[in-house]
Amino acid sequence: MRKLLIAANWKMYKNPAESTAFLTHFAPLVKQNDRAEVVLCPPMTSLPALVDAARGKAVSIGAQTMHWLNEGAYTGETSPTMLTAIGATHVLIGHSERRQHFNETDTTVNLKLKSALAHGLVPIVCVGEHLHERESNKTADVLNLQVSVALEGIDPAALGPLVIAYEPVWAIGTGKTATPEIAEEAHKIIRAQLAKVAGTAVAAATRILYGGSVKPDNAASLCCLEDIDGALVGGASLDPGSFSQIVANATAR
Ligand code: PEP
Repeated sequence: MRKLLIAANWKMYKNPAESTAFLTHFAPLVKQNDRAEVVLCPPMTSLPALVDAARGKAVSIGAQTMHWLNEGAYTGETSPTMLTAIGATHVLIGHSERRQHFNETDTTVNLKLKSALAHGLVPIVCVGEHLHERESNKTADVLNLQVSVALEGIDPAALGPLVIAYEPVWAIGTGKTATPEIAEEAHKIIRAQLAKVAGTAVAAATRILYGGSVKPDNAASLCCLEDIDGALVGGASLDPGSFSQIVANATAR
């Protein structure tokens, strides 16, 4: 039985004071929940304050990206050891906005995944097709390639913490949500590819989240499906009421 994971991606929103104020409102609304793990991924500058504020609460804190090296002349970057030193436990890898605006590729996703696993961070690897790829029936090819390159050279025994987020690019921040049928079909493709490249045990144990315009009113129908193990939420995670409602609705199944 895979435990649900509901993660918030705050993108470039909320300063440290706004982030901790969110937690003050949000934490009491989710504290009874033992069916799902809840993770907040704020901007880097909010991480230390949020890690401190989340101690003793049923909420984990993750980063939105990281470099794969521990240190070096990489202006502006944050390393995995810097994240673990402040107590972050999760990290998003290869979000489509990182791929689109910051030239991240399946190869850098692979380097980051190896590094996150080596440092004990829970990696949430984002994959998903563009609209033109879906419309030309290339969704399965795109997802299979993204998954297989991401996992290249990684011992399946090391993949216990792996989480994958299926985020169709056409559904992110657009208000267009994949139907439960579209999402479930894509999740099945991803799970089958995991089985092919890492074995059936890894495929059965890996949580695959759906992301793309998840809101309180569609969270239940998306998260109640066999192969959907939670959600990665952008816009609707910025408000404590709306995000706690997503957690409640997603875990009501
Ligand atoms: C995201 O940024 O990962 C995301 C899913 O955004 P939104 O929920 O706003 O579509």
